[in-house]
This record gives sequence, structure tokens and C-alpha cells, in this order.
Amino acid sequence: MSVICIGEALIDMICTDKGSSLSDGQNFLKKPGGAPTNVAAAIGALGGEVSLSAKVGNDPFGRQMISVMQDFNVNTTHVHLDSKSFTTFAFVSLLLDGERDFVFNRGADAELTEAEVAAIDLTGVNIVHFGSATAFLTGPLNAAYYSLKDRAKKDGKIISFDPNYRHLLFGDKIPSFIKQSMIFLKEADFTKLSDEEAMLITETESLEEATEALLDICPGVFAITLGKEGTLLGLAGKTYIIPSIPVKPVDTTGAGDAFVGAVLYQLDGLNIQDLDFAEWKKIVENANKAGARTCEYLGAMEAFKNLNNSIFN
Ligand code: ATP
Repeated sequence: MSVICIGEALIDMICTDKGSSLSDGQNFLKKPGGAPTNVAAAIGALGGEVSLSAKVGNDPFGRQMISVMQDFNVNTTHVHLDSKSFTTFAFVSLLLDGERDFVFNRGADAELTEAEVAAIDLTGVNIVHFGSATAFLTGPLNAAYYSLKDRAKKDGKIISFDPNYRHLLFGDKIPSFIKQSMIFLKEADFTKLSDEEAMLITETESLEEATEALLDICPGVFAITLGKEGTLLGLAGKTYIIPSIPVKPVDTTGAGDAFVGAVLYQLDGLNIQDLDFAEWKKIVENANKAGARTCEYLGAMEAFKNLNNSIFN
């Protein structure tokens, strides 16, 4: 059995000059990423069978992305090289007032087409993960994303969803983000959200209200990750808090993706409908371990090099 993740593979360019704007900054760290790409890498690191459906530019960065994924044993058959657009870049700098200076240079990730996704053979695939921050924006990826969801649903695959809201990307398009997230929430067997996303999508003011709303909306299981406070699990009309593992965090980037990767790695091969609370508790405890481990390293991919399934019980 295996997992397939669809969405953006991109390069994060993180300004390392403290407090500098993007115009003033001189030094940048180049980090391959994108939420669904991170999830695929985490599953590969844990020893799972996983492939990525994405598009990168036919340029040094796109080729590096494929090589990094292969280092994590991610199947890259469905990572396409685009000769018309460059690999997508996200430039970010943390300013002194805590705000972020951000430039999103969208390129090849948007160009993944329905035809390319239709060519994916879902035989042997157990779980399809929709965790793209960019699929709800414009571009062919949007239709490709929905077409894979519809086919996965029809074929009885486990649907996993992480809305991955990014304020800097959606700014004035929040209603569209909410509407599209709702479509996926109502079809997903497993959904992972942050507390901010839970309140945004359910249009509520508190975590309690959001949780109540999600218990009504989600036919499946949901997990709201709360950083060092742990994970809120919503299962069969009830909620539970599963505590985090105490660590000294160096960088929390990718902790949520490691969490999702660890859940999907453990779910692969299981019949999700049959799992009771004790089994979900174990899955989430292990996923919390993967999230905590990821916080101990600078950068998601760096962390995943230190991730393996020996951390699980
Ligand atoms: P990101 O979008 O940066 O990947 P997220 O907001 O989606 O992260 P978090 O809640 O930050 O997700 O983290 C996911 C999981 O990782 C948490 O449920 C928790 O188990 C673990 N985790 C995150 N931060 C910490 C921390 N400071 N200490 C211990 N565990 C943590």
C-alpha cells in the first residue's frame, strides 16, 4: 500500500540578516519545501511508500527538488519538469516588528494539469493527501487537485486534508479559501488543522466553538495541532487532548507536516473506519513525537534527515 501527496514543491529563500527587509537583505538560506512535499519527505524518512504529484521548473532548482525527494525515497515519477516556467520561489524575511516581508514568485507549481494527474495509477494507493497551500489559488493545479480528489473518492481511497492557510497568500481571497476548504473537509477521512485554520474555516471566535462546528462538519477524524500544547483529536462526536512531547525548539517549521506524515505513515494499510480511540491515541502520540523531533532542527528537510520510525513505540 502507499500514499500519494499532491501540491506544491517550491524553494523557500529565507533571509538570514536579522530584521532586514527583502530589499536590504543580502544573505538567504535556500530551503526546498512546500507543505505536501514536506509531508512526502517525512513519510519517506519514516520508511513509508510514498509518491509526490507536483510540477517544478526544468531548471537547477527543480532538478535539485527531485534529487532531494529521491534522497528521502519519495517516488518522483509524477513530479513533472516544466520547460515554460521556473520553479516556484517564496522569499521571506522576519522584520524587527515581528511582521514578515514576503514575495511569492509563483511558477511551475501552478501548472500541474488535470491530464498529468489523470495519468497517475491509483492501484495500490491507500491514501491520497491534499495538503497544498497553493491549490486553492489560480492555475491549472486547482482543477487537477479537484479531479484527483473526485477520483480518489470514487475509488474508495482514504482522503487526507490539510488546508495549510497562508495569510500572505490568501489576503483578500479568504472567502474562496473557506469555501474550498469546506468542500474538502466534508469529504476527508482525516483532516489536520491549526487552531487558527479551525476558527477561520468555521468562522468562529474560539477554539471551543470551532471544535463544536468541526464535529458537525467533518464526517471523518480531525486533529487540531496546538504546538507545545499538544493535539486536539476529534473522533466520533468527542474530543480529546493528546499532550505534546517537551522539547527545546530550535525551529518549528515543518512540525505540522511531520505530524501529518507520521499519521499517514501509520494509517497506511489500516482500515480507517475500524480504528477505535485507543488506536487513534497511539497514532497521535507517535505523530506528536515526529512533530517534536522536527522542532529540534533548523529547517524541515534537515529535521527529516533525523526522523525515523524508531521514535515510535
Ligand atoms: P507548521 O505549519 O509550521 O508545519 P503547524 O502549525 O501546522 O506547523 P504545530 O501545531 O506547530 O503545527 O505542530 C504540529 C505538532 O508538532 C504539534 O501537534 C506537536 O505535537 C508538535 N510540536 C509543535 N511545536 C512543538 C513544541 N514547541 N514542543 C513540542 N512539540 C511541538
